[in-house]
Amino acid sequence: MKSEMTMITPLVSEETSVPDSPVPIVSGSIFSIFNRSLRPSANFPCDDSVPQFIRKNFPKTSLSDWNSWTWQIKNSIHTAERLKEIFGESYENVISSLPDNHLPFRITPYFASLLSRFAPNHPLFRTMIPAKEELTIGNGEKNDPLNEANDTPVPHIVHRYPDRVLFTVTGVCAAYCRYCTRSHMVAKKNKTHVSTKSWDTAIEYIAANKQIRDVLISGGDPLTLSDNRLEYLLSHLRAIPHVEIIRIGTKIPVVLPMRVTKNLIKIVRKYHPVMMSLHFSHPDELSIETREACNRLADGGIPLGSQCVLLKGVNDQVETFKKLNQGLLKVRVRPYYIYQCDPIPGSAHFRTKVKKGIEIIQGLRGFTSGYAVPYFVIDAPGGGGKIPLLPESIKSIDKDGITLINYLGKEYIYPEEN
Ligand code: SF4
Repeated sequence: MKSEMTMITPLVSEETSVPDSPVPIVSGSIFSIFNRSLRPSANFPCDDSVPQFIRKNFPKTSLSDWNSWTWQIKNSIHTAERLKEIFGESYENVISSLPDNHLPFRITPYFASLLSRFAPNHPLFRTMIPAKEELTIGNGEKNDPLNEANDTPVPHIVHRYPDRVLFTVTGVCAAYCRYCTRSHMVAKKNKTHVSTKSWDTAIEYIAANKQIRDVLISGGDPLTLSDNRLEYLLSHLRAIPHVEIIRIGTKIPVVLPMRVTKNLIKIVRKYHPVMMSLHFSHPDELSIETREACNRLADGGIPLGSQCVLLKGVNDQVETFKKLNQGLLKVRVRPYYIYQCDPIPGSAHFRTKVKKGIEIIQGLRGFTSGYAVPYFVIDAPGGGGKIPLLPESIKSIDKDGITLINYLGKEYIYPEEN
């Protein structure tokens, strides 16, 4: 496998990492037994297990370095050997045999520390660590299942709906999800952030098409961009009069929460309304670090919604989604979408039956707050856009009205005027 250390150098070389001002720290007695450098640093809270994890796996690293997002990226784990050193498990056969054009393996040290808080069979391992099943291509699986290439008028733009566009600003992520819809475009060989100049055609396209009022910035993960590049992007989009809202799709609060610096919030606030769609998979991702990141974003006045992919053996239980969605609301993230897993190559082991998603919505609706019930959608293969799937709540429609079925299976009639 190629060296990602070489690959990601340009990603961090121009960072303007601004130390955060102090925020409350979670302290625990465990800190007293470690040396000074591993006491909680003043810029981000951490789980009690983190100092021990650092001492074992990143000796001589201070908590202050640990809490630097650029340190996290520079020290990403991307080889079977390193994974084995940390978890004592052998995954090398799979990681070493990933084809060159395949989605590579990479997790941040933070995410490795999160995994280390759970047993090795915890579902979160499957979301990021390659499994042999992903090397087998199943029926109907395609590289670009949503056929986004067909709706790409200029590089980096997908224009499928009349009033909004997807702007894929980078192919880089802090960690690579094994079920990624855009695995065909992220992290390809020698992939680094593209230059800001290469965005110009896309920005000109948005400026020239006055019906575009909503721009979704995605990738890859836009929050892996440096503060400077992110500000360049936001300021150019905000300068277009007809762009009303800017949305950012990101998994950063889950895999690299320390990226949510005070400076990042300061930049985003300047270009409001900016919203964020946060990618979650499991309630155990809601660590103290991730909760801090979400709270910082919410405090910055950024409306937050979640998007999750329904994954077999990871989150395909009502109780899992109930816990996740209730936890998200506590950090002011509105559960928004559950996606049926897209048929990318090697995804059969992740894909559930469609009825599983409907069952989950049925199991949530009425049994928890309405705010905790997202839409279950299928992004139609071939490019038909998102189609919501609603549980059967209408039994019949006749002259007496509509017979509705509530969450307990009881029938009620809503009278309609003839
Ligand atoms: S963060 Fe998003 S774009 Fe990146 S690998 Fe995960 S799903 Fe794909």
